[in-house]
Amino acid sequence: MKKELVEKINRLKQEKKAVILAHCYQRPEIDEVADFVGDSLFLSRKAAETDCEIIIFAGVYFMAETAKILSPNKKVLLPNLSAGCLMADMINLEKIRLFKSKHPGIPVVCYINSTAEVKTECDICATSANAVNIVKSLNSDKVLFVPDRNLGSYVQSKLKDVEVINYDGCCPIHNNLTENDIILAKKDNQKAKVLVHPECSKNVLDLADFIGSTTGIMNYVKNSDEKEYIIVTEIGVTQRLRRDYPNKKFIHISNKAICESMKLITLEDIYNSLINETFEINVPDNIIKSAYKPIERMINLN
Ligand code: SF4
Repeated sequence: MKKELVEKINRLKQEKKAVILAHCYQRPEIDEVADFVGDSLFLSRKAAETDCEIIIFAGVYFMAETAKILSPNKKVLLPNLSAGCLMADMINLEKIRLFKSKHPGIPVVCYINSTAEVKTECDICATSANAVNIVKSLNSDKVLFVPDRNLGSYVQSKLKDVEVINYDGCCPIHNNLTENDIILAKKDNQKAKVLVHPECSKNVLDLADFIGSTTGIMNYVKNSDEKEYIIVTEIGVTQRLRRDYPNKKFIHISNKAICESMKLITLEDIYNSLINETFEINVPDNIIKSAYKPIERMINLN
């Protein structure tokens, strides 16, 4: 049944000149129909490089918006419209304007995990992989960082000469992980390396052997001879590592580290999305134009 569905999707994908993007936090079976698997900016950039006509984003809403900003002439579809991001939803146009008004004249760095309209109010975007370098590149003694206070605090810990003023948002999935979760996981796995995503709180980051983005964590495992790891991020990363490195042991930090929103999209949803060309993500032209600027500025720095 699943095999048939995968075959039907792959056939339709070719007929419709579509590419399917799968974020690493998606259900692992989505990889079987995906043209690219990775983190959100990588996926949007890859899709923009292709000559496809349709982009199907197996991810959450803001990711589909970013794909649209980078490929305004392509049709971008999100297979399940309920797939939102709790962190991106913590800030909107009104809230960012209020935050800026309290700290006038300070450059604003915006984590890519934010909506298109929030990006229009920012000077430059950043990812969890490049945030430290992006903030440094501004040569400013103060920056505003939205919306993830944990990533902003991590940047602050690396840059002593800059004051990072954080918006009070976070990813609840990562933020809910605690030192105790790590202590418990370490108890029976003393030798395991602790690999942590910087969306986690400082107390958790302090116990890390390595702090990095999804791709950073995956590359760390790829290049390491260690045999055991405690993975302190969303379960999709742990599942893919277990699949890709069957001879290594991966301990998932906690059942709390599951983003339900990222699990909404099924293979059936992708099939329906391809057949019906739903659900199209439209971003007004003026927002595309303004939101592209901070993304472009970041890309040019990399
Ligand atoms: S894991 Fe966190 S940041 Fe990522 S989509 Fe889920 S809520 Fe948003």
